Amino acid sequence: MTRATAYTPDGRPGPGQLREINLDVLQVGRAELVLPEATIRDERGGTLFDNDVLVFDPASGGGPLVSAAADHQARAFGVVNTAFHVQRALRFVASLLHRPLPHLLVRIGMHDRPSWGGGHYRLPNPGNGEAIPVRPAGEVHLGRGRAFLTAPGRRRYFHAPAHNAAIIYHEVGHHLCRHTADFRLNRLRPTQRQTNTKIALDEGCADVMTAILLRTDDIYGWHRRHIPVWDQRRRKLDPRWTMAHFHGGRHQDPHADGTVWASACWSARQGVTAGGADPVRFDALLLRSLELAGDDDAASRATPTLLRRRHFSRLLAAMTRADPQLAPGVLAAMAAHGIRPGVSNSDLRKTARAEHAKAVGA
Ligand SMILES: [Zn+2]
Repeated sequence: MTRATAYTPDGRPGPGQLREINLDVLQVGRAELVLPEATIRDERGGTLFDNDVLVFDPASGGGPLVSAAADHQARAFGVVNTAFHVQRALRFVASLLHRPLPHLLVRIGMHDRPSWGGGHYRLPNPGNGEAIPVRPAGEVHLGRGRAFLTAPGRRRYFHAPAHNAAIIYHEVGHHLCRHTADFRLNRLRPTQRQTNTKIALDEGCADVMTAILLRTDDIYGWHRRHIPVWDQRRRKLDPRWTMAHFHGGRHQDPHADGTVWASACWSARQGVTAGGADPVRFDALLLRSLELAGDDDAASRATPTLLRRRHFSRLLAAMTRADPQLAPGVLAAMAAHGIRPGVSNSDLRKTARAEHAKAVGA
């Protein structure tokens, strides 16, 4: 175990509480940490680590307005902070799945484009536009950051994605989906031609995993604070988001539609917890359902199979099979969001919109 500093979730709109933590590190490279379950690397060159002590100052995210020394501290801290959250997320998942996910490579400081300040999960595909080959098991890329935020104490904070646990957890959530439910059946595609297009369930599962790990429904409350909570783009998990707010279709942002699924899962987790169940039992149910959803189709990339894998009802059915005792509570909570087993997304939307119109007297 190596002594390190990282932010831990504190439920406030900010990066979290700066704390000393222990990190299980196999190897410390110049700008890289190799953990048993992941490798975290800063791709911008230079030496960030020259010994095994991983205690750094976050330097309010570093960025263009601070000294080179402060930015260096912020970059080193970003690698360590990412390592902490990736290890935490992957160990949580492995403990519930009873198996580890494939080793994850996280590359920080990717894509020197001023417009890209976030993160994404990448699988190999020639259409990616990635300059360096992507590992077949999947990679997380985090940008350099591009905007300033306010942190507690009204401090100005450069939004380096490696300092934001919500972004890190969301991307690890995609790695989880790829190696469990595999919604787009990438395992059947040629290794170098997997698809990176995400569906709403993938985004929703990544968001609910983020909520579970951050222990808050306002998962992006820090960097999306300027978006009001009643706007779906805030992506706060909320009982108000039902299938009436679902759009679907190729041109719709899957993140917004994913908020409906993530909110329904969060309601289900709260519902079964209120009924006396341990919240971790719900988390195990959710992960088990992702595995069941990955298993149960005949291996075919035919269009109807792929379309069925987009259905919220299909994953809900897997959830009821994953832990039948909790199924009644899960079904009731999901029904409140307009999600029922055995119905396509568009039919669920139709019913939910009709009910919504009746309720508001339209
Ligand atoms: Zn995503």
